[in-house]
Amino acid sequence: MSVKLTILGSGSSGNCAYIETAEARILVDAGFSPRQIRQRLAGIGRTPENLSAILITHEHSDHISGLLGIADKFQIPVYCNRGTQDGTVWTFKTKWSNKKKLPLENPDSLKSKMDWRLFQTGDHFELNDLLIETFSIPHDAQDPVGYILRTAAGNIGFATDLGHVTKLVLERIRAANVLVLESNHDVKMLQDCPRRSWALKQRILGRHGHLSNATAAETAAQIMSAGLKHLYLAHLSRECNKPELAQHVMAEQLHHIGATHVQLQLAAQDVPCATLEL
Ligand SMILES: [Zn+2]
Ligand SMILES: [Zn+2]
Repeated sequence: MSVKLTILGSGSSGNCAYIETAEARILVDAGFSPRQIRQRLAGIGRTPENLSAILITHEHSDHISGLLGIADKFQIPVYCNRGTQDGTVWTFKTKWSNKKKLPLENPDSLKSKMDWRLFQTGDHFELNDLLIETFSIPHDAQDPVGYILRTAAGNIGFATDLGHVTKLVLERIRAANVLVLESNHDVKMLQDCPRRSWALKQRILGRHGHLSNATAAETAAQIMSAGLKHLYLAHLSRECNKPELAQHVMAEQLHHIGATHVQLQLAAQDVPCATLEL
């Protein structure tokens, strides 16, 4: 059986990807409402009840907002490190308990109630027929990670939400045959954006913020190999980027280095990508 990847959505309002192998059905991040995740899965004929696991990259709400409603409700194992677990519980407890009705009387019980499977950053582990590699990424969260999912049909890499690309990140994502890479903003559009405070701009541009189109393109050049077949540009900013601009910057780079074998795709916030079969 083939391996399938569907990016259900990506951007600063929510991130979630679905991967299916012969033995596993997993989400990487659960950053939409439970209802949205259900709807988007239904679009590809799947339901949250049958998930084998959810992998979380970090605790920012655009990566975990549906976690409680999906993982707790259906007792789906959640894989993350301790920092992300702490950050997630804290987020549910403080940020959301005032605004939204938590389906829990005591948010502290989240730690014992949910089926957490904690790993240490840098560990790799088996999950049914997948081998999952974890690696540290520089971002302003407790202990954010990227993933390489090694499957029988190829390796799928996730590197979104990172302020710069470390040697370690380069080393790890080089193994990807399919790479989901952040291309968050155009630096000039961000600097000129009137609706963002100076402090927020500094955060996004900083070494623990988000990757620009230009840095994403440089990164692609640094890791390029015959093995990289599909490149998804992800986590695009609505206000400080344009899909056609992100696409253009990367396409130019791929052309420049002669990487004509790479299929370039954009991940959108509002609609899932077409399913990729490896
Ligand atoms: Zn983040
Ligand atoms: Zn994010």
